[in-house]
Amino acid sequence: MQRRKFLKKSTLSSAGLVAAPFVASAGSLSTGAKPKAHTALFEGYPMVIATWDVPNATAKAWEILENNGSSLDAVEQGVMVEESDVDNQTVGKGGRPDRDGHVTLDACIMDKDGNCGAVVCLQNIEHPVSVARKVMEDTPHVMLAGKGAEQFAYEKGFEKTELLTEKSRKEWLAWQETSRYEPVINIENHDTIGMLCLDAQGDIAGACTTSGMAYKMAGRVGDSPIIGAGLFIDNEVGGATATGVGEEVVRTVGSFLIVELMRQGKSPQEACEEGVRRIIAKNPDYKDFQVGFIAVNKKGETGAFCIHPGFSYRVYNRKGHFNPVSATYITP
Ligand code: ASP
Repeated sequence: MQRRKFLKKSTLSSAGLVAAPFVASAGSLSTGAKPKAHTALFEGYPMVIATWDVPNATAKAWEILENNGSSLDAVEQGVMVEESDVDNQTVGKGGRPDRDGHVTLDACIMDKDGNCGAVVCLQNIEHPVSVARKVMEDTPHVMLAGKGAEQFAYEKGFEKTELLTEKSRKEWLAWQETSRYEPVINIENHDTIGMLCLDAQGDIAGACTTSGMAYKMAGRVGDSPIIGAGLFIDNEVGGATATGVGEEVVRTVGSFLIVELMRQGKSPQEACEEGVRRIIAKNPDYKDFQVGFIAVNKKGETGAFCIHPGFSYRVYNRKGHFNPVSATYITP
């Protein structure tokens, strides 16, 4: 395989951004600089925050929270919206395949009591997040992989579904002409939906789901289904979730780190900034990849930070549906 060649591109223009004061201004922190003090953008609960521009997913989660549903139901049903959306080619049905043409899905979920479940490399099932929830609730295990996860899903009543759409198949065939592995920053060939919710009781849950890097090696798994890396919840403190190049997030156990930093007194924003700094500090190639985190604490204060401009997130709370909000970033 050729060495990764990453292209830098920022796709989210200011179009559609909400007006101040709800937009986080783009930062220009140089590496090593002290993080700026940020005030919380949003406060209170119930609330939902999710990576990227996923208005239907956050609206679904909000509907559940508004009807006094649990944060666990909200994150599951929220991300399921994206798993079913064939136009979202980075998650669930319609996701881009691995280099051999197989769509393999990774997901995890974590509740207020620290229970968690995950599936990795799951094929033929539209809702990996729901299988992850079944792993959490109906087995003594945390993670099921591959064929075992698929078999478990069928036992639980999930239907076999063709995940490779004609659009993704055609793109994969075209990709084979070069067969270059080229995750492109912020755009279509990778991304994840990570969602964090606080319900009316102030209890936090999170979910994270992805089809991973497009045209990845068969069997490759990133951060998204790894508890502590792609997602972590501690109901005493808060929650965090990640998007971007999973290998980099795994190396720092990014989401766990951010929650622990909040436990030590950092705001969600400060914790996300420190999480990104940990990644870039030991990584000379950081200019070539994107990683973004979102976090929330028990008060419903949020934070988000990433390496490059272009990462956005959505929040839904009692003040409204604000979105997408541009995350602040480190400018390399
Ligand atoms: N984190 C995902 C992975 O590494 C991909 C992404 O969010 O861009 O599989």
